[in-house]
Amino acid sequence: MNTFIYIITLRTQEYEYHFEYIMAGSGNDSPAIGIDLGTTYSCVAVWKHDRIEIIPNDQGNRTTPSAVAFVDAERLIGDGAKNQAPMNPANTVFDSKRLIGRRFSDPKVQEDIKLWPFKVIQGCYDTPKIVVTYKGQEREFLAEQISSMILGKMKETAEAYLGKIVKDAVITVPAYFNDSQRQATKDAGTIAGLNVIRMINEPTAAAIAYGLDNKSDIAGKINVLVFDLGGGTFDVSVMTIKKGGIFEVKAVAGDTHLGGEDFDNRMVDHCVREFKMRWKKDLSGNQRALGRLRFACEKAKRNLSCMTQTSVELDCLHEGIDFSLKITRAKFEYLNMGLFNKCIMILETCLSEAKMKKSCVEQVILVGGSTRIPKVQDMVQEFFDGRELCKSVNADEAVAYGAAVMAAKVRCSGDKRVQGVLLRDVTPLSLGVEIQGDLISVVIPRNTPIPTSNAKTYRTVCDYQSMIEINVYQGERSRTRDNHFLGKFRISGIPPAPKGVAEVIERFEIDANGILTVTASIISTGKTEKLIISNVNGRLSKKEIEKMVRDAQEYKLEDQEFKKKAEAYNALEDCLYKVKNKIEEYNTMKSTVNMKEVKKAIHETSKWLEDNKAAPFAVLQLQKVRLEFVCKSLF
Ligand code: AMP
Repeated sequence: MNTFIYIITLRTQEYEYHFEYIMAGSGNDSPAIGIDLGTTYSCVAVWKHDRIEIIPNDQGNRTTPSAVAFVDAERLIGDGAKNQAPMNPANTVFDSKRLIGRRFSDPKVQEDIKLWPFKVIQGCYDTPKIVVTYKGQEREFLAEQISSMILGKMKETAEAYLGKIVKDAVITVPAYFNDSQRQATKDAGTIAGLNVIRMINEPTAAAIAYGLDNKSDIAGKINVLVFDLGGGTFDVSVMTIKKGGIFEVKAVAGDTHLGGEDFDNRMVDHCVREFKMRWKKDLSGNQRALGRLRFACEKAKRNLSCMTQTSVELDCLHEGIDFSLKITRAKFEYLNMGLFNKCIMILETCLSEAKMKKSCVEQVILVGGSTRIPKVQDMVQEFFDGRELCKSVNADEAVAYGAAVMAAKVRCSGDKRVQGVLLRDVTPLSLGVEIQGDLISVVIPRNTPIPTSNAKTYRTVCDYQSMIEINVYQGERSRTRDNHFLGKFRISGIPPAPKGVAEVIERFEIDANGILTVTASIISTGKTEKLIISNVNGRLSKKEIEKMVRDAQEYKLEDQEFKKKAEAYNALEDCLYKVKNKIEEYNTMKSTVNMKEVKKAIHETSKWLEDNKAAPFAVLQLQKVRLEFVCKSLF
């Protein structure tokens, strides 16, 4: 029997990361953190003082915008990037999570490109590349690099809070992410200098947060449904939480391209149409105006969660025209009803996949910022026949909370409750092979609990066929081209026979380590061969990741250099103001200080500062020392 073995690493399960963690050295005394890398906002948490703490960023905010801005002299990440976005739309990158692990030609990517104010081009192997102008030069970045900058910011936030270097992290991903999206997210972590000890699904993380908070109330077991509608993705997860902290996922469903940003976009489209109707002018080509509109619409959307009417007001929006539009909650709901209905359909699918009646769901947990939309809450509540929904977990922080619990568990810290947590996950997407007619034959259906294995027999399709090419795919569509390609291998040496006679068994196995092994065996012979393919075109190679890690370090150093310089510039300017103020005081006191020399120094330094805005740190410091020396008699 000829046997070829094809191994693909699925990044979804816990053991692989646990193993990597051990390899990376568990002697590190800094705690492992949990990061919720969101489409619009990210959040970081850690186990400290015998509880999970959500870590505020340098602005005191508990969530950080997932945005990176490139300006003339510096790079901004988080709040700074978001705040300047309307002024610098072409160089403010957001939504990297919508791009990560996807191909440029993906229809969803093409749809998004039309709405994004920044430029995205097609790179090698159909990978999308983001193009920005930074320090006067055009630069290209992969989505992994942008995500790594956000992860780097979360790492720094944790380091500032803990006063220690942080290496290990658990990162969450949407349950419905495919292998490519998971792998690319993990690469982003590596580029950020993190050792990703584990990746867990966002709704599972939220359920952990719920389960831990309500542990005493869970007597035997309860069935929960997590409805997670965030900024860019939607996930539903049906799971059973058993006494002692066992989290058993029954089914997941979702859409990795459905969330708050889609609701914003519908409002933006509405405003563009209104503007056109009123002023007969099309602003859809004006990126700055679109950026400002998007910002204002997101704010209006949030207002509509607590008010029944609000307005979008923007001065000089396009060609000097001011724009003002009243929008009611009913109008907002009307614009988005199609998307809300889609959420309910996915919810129904998930329950039927879990083979669970809605009456058997004991708790419906709402997570993600977009679950604050009253209509979404009403629709979910109506679906569950008026049942009270659980809003006790914090919609913005629950995912990071659960990730931090997992991080503490992997690092063997935390209390008994944390150590008791056990996850039993499922495969989020079906796995199969290509068969004749561009069709996929599923070998392991989605939502199968892991570890698992299954085999199917395939026959030759031509007379005297001696070789079969086996293409492995992940996804739910019937045509292979609509699914995600994982890799391929060949099995040759099939004995000559008329078509349909020779048989090949293809076995898929997902073990507890999260490894998918595909074995193809010709039934009539006994030879065995093994084939391992670890890299698929379009994925980052080890070398590429190493280069990006170096680049990330360089960017970080540049940022630090810029910060130092900006501080030295401000310190010199501050010194000038202080001296000027002192002079005024001395003038009124008719002092004996040598004013001529002091005034000359002030004049020269002011002029120098005006002409040398880009002066290096050391020179700025030297100027300050000089000024202080000349003016020391004033103090
Ligand atoms: P998340 O990914 O969970 O951080 O959710 C972010 C999304 O939630 C963004 O699209 C926000 O605009 C949206 N969001 C946050 N708060 C509200 C609110 N009060 N009403 C409606 N949407 C909100």
